[in-house]
Amino acid sequence: MFNGAELVARGEDQWDPARAAWNLAIDQQPAMVARPGDADEVAAVLRYARGNGLRVAVQAAGHGAGPLAGVGEDTLLLKTARMTGAEVDAEKRRARVAAGARWQDVGALASPQGLSGLSGSSAEVGVVGYMLGGGHGWLARKYGMACNSMIAAEVVTADGRLLRADRENEVDLFWALRGGGGNFGVVTALEFELYPVPELYAGMLTWPWERTAEVLHGWGEWALGVPNEMSTWARILQVPPLPIVPEPVRGRQLVVVEAAYLGDEASGRELLRPLRELSPELDTFAAVPPAALGHLHMDPEDPVPFAMSGQLLDKLPAAAIDSIVEVAGPDSGSPLLSLEVRVLGGALTESPSDAGALASLDQAFLTLGVGMVMDPAMAPAINAHLDLVSNALEPWDSGLKYANFIDVPIDTRTCYPPDTFDRLQKVKTRYDPGDLFRANHPIPCPAAAG
Ligand SMILES: Cc1cc2nc3c(=O)[nH]c(=O)nc-3n(C[C@H](O)[C@H](O)[C@H](O)COP(=O)(O)OP(=O)(O)OC[C@H]3O[C@@H](n4cnc5c(N)ncnc54)[C@H](O)[C@@H]3O)c2cc1C
Repeated sequence: MFNGAELVARGEDQWDPARAAWNLAIDQQPAMVARPGDADEVAAVLRYARGNGLRVAVQAAGHGAGPLAGVGEDTLLLKTARMTGAEVDAEKRRARVAAGARWQDVGALASPQGLSGLSGSSAEVGVVGYMLGGGHGWLARKYGMACNSMIAAEVVTADGRLLRADRENEVDLFWALRGGGGNFGVVTALEFELYPVPELYAGMLTWPWERTAEVLHGWGEWALGVPNEMSTWARILQVPPLPIVPEPVRGRQLVVVEAAYLGDEASGRELLRPLRELSPELDTFAAVPPAALGHLHMDPEDPVPFAMSGQLLDKLPAAAIDSIVEVAGPDSGSPLLSLEVRVLGGALTESPSDAGALASLDQAFLTLGVGMVMDPAMAPAINAHLDLVSNALEPWDSGLKYANFIDVPIDTRTCYPPDTFDRLQKVKTRYDPGDLFRANHPIPCPAAAG
């Protein structure tokens, strides 16, 4: 213990579980692990790290640990897992979460009130890490990036001060936290808006993967004409034959269309008609509560070893769909579990006047390839195939990257327009001039950047 914070050092019994990331493919070997329980304990841990010449990597569960793979003896891993809890004020449509909260903690309180935060595909993902990186989810075409729903953040900065950042206080810090990642301090609490979801019609349609080309082309045309109330993602899935996988898809190779419609079942059915005319073999669409969105994509609920990589595409013409089928469909030899395409547009392209660093996603499509690295020997083949996908889609790649979907170290400059990156560096220099914080996607101080 150190001023209340639990410290776990190498060699102690708790070392392996303490240093583990949710992504089991990542072997983190920090100098030590600290588990503070509140903001005062966070400040004490930061003092300890500074006093011992250590940098600090902040982590909730470690869904985004991939880019930190090299975390080693110069770094203290600060885990926020003991800082749990969520509160929902249904009347004001607001939520407040502690640093270690996951989306399921918010969903459990908000969903029965007909409300939802702008969560992503998985109820397990940490609210803070997801939102600091932007946050693209099922309601994004209607309500935009999750980071722009942030109302306030409580942050312990490198010098140990607890600040409240919002539209009136620490405005530059508040701007940077909305999309600039975990570079500026330890967020101990977040407040954000919730959105009314009185009716929701959501589910998935599946076809055998022999029909991948036909279904993806049909989906691509259909998706161009749907309203912003409809979000839709399509994917090629090679599902492992594991007991944790829902029975209807276990061990199958499929092409899948998922969608969530903010509206009533009758109009949702009418919108989906062209897809149903393609005679899917499985159809799970139903009127569901908002919390169902955290499970629609069938993301694993327990930690797994994986590698993933995504791209922001300007367009998805027929030739791009052909390339996707070629690299991930039947006869491709693809080892990937999933290659998905999310339709962007709608509110994602409307940058609010008082938005944060990731004001919008102006591109038309977001892809994500995922491979399960069940054994380290599988990693080279999976990473090579992720590269193959990336090269195949290069002609339509916007050149910008979406940090939350990049799971390897990259030059973070590629995630922002140049003036946004410059401003992020200025905020970094002001709040963390000694570069104490080691975010998964680092914004270096200008001097350190060279
Ligand atoms: C199964 C799965 C599904 C996903 N689905 C989506 C999706 O639909 N949409 C989307 O946008 N992203 C999605 N992601 C990506 C996810 O949003 C990022 O990996 C995000 O960084 C995860 O946050 P975390 O807190 O869970 O992870 P962590 O690895 O614990 O944290 C990631 C980073 O966030 C920062 N951070 C975390 N907590 C704090 C804190 N308290 N203070 C300061 N910095 C902090 C740190 O820099 C840390 O390196 C998904 C990831 C997985 C594994």
